[in-house]
Amino acid sequence: MLLKSNIKDLKKILKAENMLFREEERYCYAQDSANIPEEYNIPDIVVFVETIEEVQRIVKYANAHEIPIVSRGAGTNMVGSCVCNKGGIVLNFSKMNKILEFNSDDMTMKVQPGVVLNDIKNLAESKGLFYPPDPSNYKVSTIGGSIAQSSGGAKSFKYGTTKDYILSLTVVLADGTIMRLGSGTIKDAVGYHLNQLIVGSEGTLAIVVEAELKLIPLPEDKAVITAYYDSIDSASIGVNGIIRERIFPATIDFMDKNSINTVESFYPSGLNTDKECMLLVEVDGFTSSIDTQTERVKKALSETGASEIIIVKDKEKQESIWTARRASYAATAKLAPDVISDDIIVPRTKLGDMVRGCKDICDKYKLKVCIVGHVGDGNIHPQIALNTENDEEFKRYTDAKSEIYALAVNLGGTISAEHGVGLEKMQYIDKILDENSIEAMRRIKTLFDPKGILNPGKIFKM
Ligand SMILES: Cc1cc2nc3c(=O)[nH]c(=O)nc-3n(C[C@H](O)[C@H](O)[C@H](O)COP(=O)(O)OP(=O)(O)OC[C@H]3O[C@@H](n4cnc5c(N)ncnc54)[C@H](O)[C@@H]3O)c2cc1C
Repeated sequence: MLLKSNIKDLKKILKAENMLFREEERYCYAQDSANIPEEYNIPDIVVFVETIEEVQRIVKYANAHEIPIVSRGAGTNMVGSCVCNKGGIVLNFSKMNKILEFNSDDMTMKVQPGVVLNDIKNLAESKGLFYPPDPSNYKVSTIGGSIAQSSGGAKSFKYGTTKDYILSLTVVLADGTIMRLGSGTIKDAVGYHLNQLIVGSEGTLAIVVEAELKLIPLPEDKAVITAYYDSIDSASIGVNGIIRERIFPATIDFMDKNSINTVESFYPSGLNTDKECMLLVEVDGFTSSIDTQTERVKKALSETGASEIIIVKDKEKQESIWTARRASYAATAKLAPDVISDDIIVPRTKLGDMVRGCKDICDKYKLKVCIVGHVGDGNIHPQIALNTENDEEFKRYTDAKSEIYALAVNLGGTISAEHGVGLEKMQYIDKILDENSIEAMRRIKTLFDPKGILNPGKIFKM
């Protein structure tokens, strides 16, 4: 709990309009997209930062007084990574939302942490360049949050995740020190890659105040292929069939029957509701290559039992198919008061076992689940609709979740591909990582943040 004197001191650093004190204002920051009960997570104060110097001064002050600091972008992470389970100060980056530099020859962009991914993508694309990481909610999520979670998305299969597009980071450490990590060049072999340590560290090691991003040439053209299957196993064989055809699609995504039906109930998009599942494949490259790619994908899909294979070249129709896929979370949210989207990954050859297993577990615990996923990566998102305030149902959900994680691990996978650990998956981390590696992480945390003020109580127990 902040004291009156702390608030008085913070007022000397920040403009009055950049501070929120009232309970109803702070309450809005007690949640992210993880559905963790808000009563435990209300911050003591929310501050909007405008400059690096302000960030440094606040952090220095918080460190001296051992006050927790939780950075916040759009608050859309799925694992309780920016809730304030220890109270403290929320650093809101929505006013540090400028694109600072754009260099089309070097193919780089320098941004502040509050820039929304959609703005980065749009500027790049307007100049014939491409920033590929695309979490499904890229129209609202920020680059700061994406760096902290190392976000992925549908295009990870071909293009990788956020970690692959970070050339340098400017960060503020827990004592207010500023550091530039990485030289901004495409390759850099000087010293430890500390910028990569910050990527995915969920705001627990340092605060990102600027990022230099790598861009790549925008593919000239693309086509979307949709195909339906009567069985999940055939669809997962289809995924590997595409790769055997030596095609490297930008995306191989998946929707099961429940997600197709749920999307069609709330956002009718013309998807086929009779089939067990759908694959959504996007190929890209030179216009002259698109027909060869789509024909080979079509061959692989039909040889593995797909029906209704449709090749979509019209840009508006492509966008409407993607909008349907991206609407699956919002549609599932309409089935019950709450929705929890999970994130597991297995080797591609185990996809069928994982998706079927996940359905069986949810059936056993009488839970409504809609499964989507970036199956090119072996990554699936079971979206479970439930009432988190119903204790009995919530207990069924937590039991199901433990079984789903155990299954993922037994199949050679892990419990997060792109959403991170946060608060939500912390209790499972010792089943995934060995004690020596967790201990090494604790030592790194202590080195960067000796007093433990940066996003405390996340990822692993100290
Ligand atoms: C509908 C929906 C679909 C999604 N789809 C995907 C998907 O396909 N792939 C995927 O990977 N994710 C997905 N996500 C998760 C989400 O997109 C990512 O976690 C996201 O990029 C978080 O961005 P944010 O701005 O909301 O960050 P926040 O949720 O605000 O913060 C996330 C973390 O970043 C830290 N943080 C924020 N700013 C900074 C900073 N400047 N310095 C240090 N730490 C900071 C926070 O403390 C927190 O730990 C989805 C979420 C939703 C709601």
